[in-house]
Amino acid sequence: MDLGIDPDQLGTCVQCGLCLSSCPTYRVTGDEAFSPRGRIALMRQVQLHDAPLTAEVTEAFDTCIQCLGCEPACPSVVPYGHFIESTRNALTEHRGSRRRAIALWPLTKPRLLRLGSSLLAVAQRLRLVPARLGLPDRLPLRRRPHQTSGTDVYLFTGCVMDAWQREVHFATQRVLEAAGFGVTPTGDAAGCCGALHTHAGLAAHGERLTENIDAALDPTIPVIVNSAGCGAHLKQHSSHQIFDAQEFLAEHLDRLPDVTPLEVNVAVQDPCHLRHVQRAHLPTRTLLRKFVSLVTELDDEGLCCGAGGAYSVLQPDMSQQVRERKLASINRAQPDVVASANPGCSMHLSAAGVMTEHPMVLVDRALAANSSTT
Ligand code: SF4
Ligand code: SF4
Repeated sequence: MDLGIDPDQLGTCVQCGLCLSSCPTYRVTGDEAFSPRGRIALMRQVQLHDAPLTAEVTEAFDTCIQCLGCEPACPSVVPYGHFIESTRNALTEHRGSRRRAIALWPLTKPRLLRLGSSLLAVAQRLRLVPARLGLPDRLPLRRRPHQTSGTDVYLFTGCVMDAWQREVHFATQRVLEAAGFGVTPTGDAAGCCGALHTHAGLAAHGERLTENIDAALDPTIPVIVNSAGCGAHLKQHSSHQIFDAQEFLAEHLDRLPDVTPLEVNVAVQDPCHLRHVQRAHLPTRTLLRKFVSLVTELDDEGLCCGAGGAYSVLQPDMSQQVRERKLASINRAQPDVVASANPGCSMHLSAAGVMTEHPMVLVDRALAANSSTT
C-alpha cells in the first residue's frame, strides 16, 4: 500500500535507535513496535514490500501520539513528522474518512460549537457529564464578546479554545495591550485552523481551513497564537507571520512593565507542539521569570503528557499510561501550579487533578496584582 512517503526519505532512518528514549509510547511499553524506529520499519514493510495492514501494524501507527519527541533526537534528521502524517492520511483514506470528518465538523461552525458547549455546560452543572471525558471543570455557560483595541497584531482565537477557554484569550490580549500592542481578535472571521483535522489524517480538510484563515486576515499583520498545537500547525501551513504568544512577548519583554512577581512556584510543562515542532519553548521561561517568583523545571526531559489532540479520547489507555510518567515528574517537582501553553495538555493534566494555568494567565495576574497595589 502506498503511504505517500518518498522511498528515499524512508531510507534515511539508519535504525540506530537513538530516538527510542525520547518516545513516550516506547518508554511506557518497551515494545519496538511502539517506537519511532519500529514504526518506520513497519512503514517500509507496508510501502516498499506491500506487507498487509494487520491489526498489529495499524495499532503501531494509531498509537503514535505525533508528539515528534523523536525528531530532535535523531542524528540523521529523519522527517518522522512527515512520515506519520502521510501514513495517517493513507490509513484514514483506506478506512474511510467520513466518520472522522463528521466528528470534527462542529469545529468549523463556531456558533454551533459555542451553542453545543453551553448545552454541555448546563449538563455539567446537572452532573450529567462523566468525569472520564476529561472536560474542563466548569465550561462557561456564556462568553463576553471579543473587543478590538487596534491593528498592530491579530490574536488568533480558533475554535474549541474560544468556546471553552475564552478567558485565556482575554488574558493574552490584556498582556499584549500592556506591552503597547493594539489587538484584533480574529473571532469567527478566521475560525478553526485545521490542526486537529491534520492530526486525525484529514490533511486536505486541514489545509482548506488554513487557507480560509489566510484569506480572511491581512498578511501584513502578525498573528499571535496562544495554543501551541494551533501555532505549530499555522507556522507549518499558513503564509502569514505566525508567532507563539510567549515567543512574541519574550522578544518585547522590555515593553512590559516591571512588577512584583507573583509568589508562586510554577512548573513549566512544555507542549510537544511548542517544544518539538515550533522549538519555541524557552521563551515561556523568559517571560515567566519576570512575573513569578519561582520557575521549576520538570525532570522528564520534555516527554509528552499523552494529550495529543484527540489522542486521549482515541487511545485512552496509552494516553493515561503516558500521563502517569508526567504526573510522577510533577509530583517530584511539587509546584503550586503547572504552566501549560496548550489547551489539550492543560485539560488532560487537569483531568488527573493537576492545577494548571496558561502562562499568559499567570502574567496577566501578576500585572493585575501590580495595578491594584499602585
Ligand atoms: S529515526 Fe533517527 S534516531 Fe531513530 S532509529 Fe532512525 S535514524 Fe536513528
Ligand atoms: S511522534 Fe512521539 S509517539 Fe510517535 S514515534 Fe515519535 S516520539 Fe514516539
